Amino acid sequence: MIYYEILCYSCKKTFKVYEGSLLYKQFKERKSRIFCCDDCSHKIRMDAIKNFFRYLK
Ligand SMILES: [Zn+2]
Repeated sequence: MIYYEILCYSCKKTFKVYEGSLLYKQFKERKSRIFCCDDCSHKIRMDAIKNFFRYLK
């Protein structure tokens, strides 16, 4: 299976993105320069949701 090893900008760990995934495509096409792993993107999403609800109060 083809994959890239990409450095996560958030936790500074390398993670693998496999061919066929969205990140793989973005990395290959150099559409984005910053990438984060699944764990961090999940955390970031959860924080964004939390902040959103905090904002509503
Ligand atoms: Zn990470």
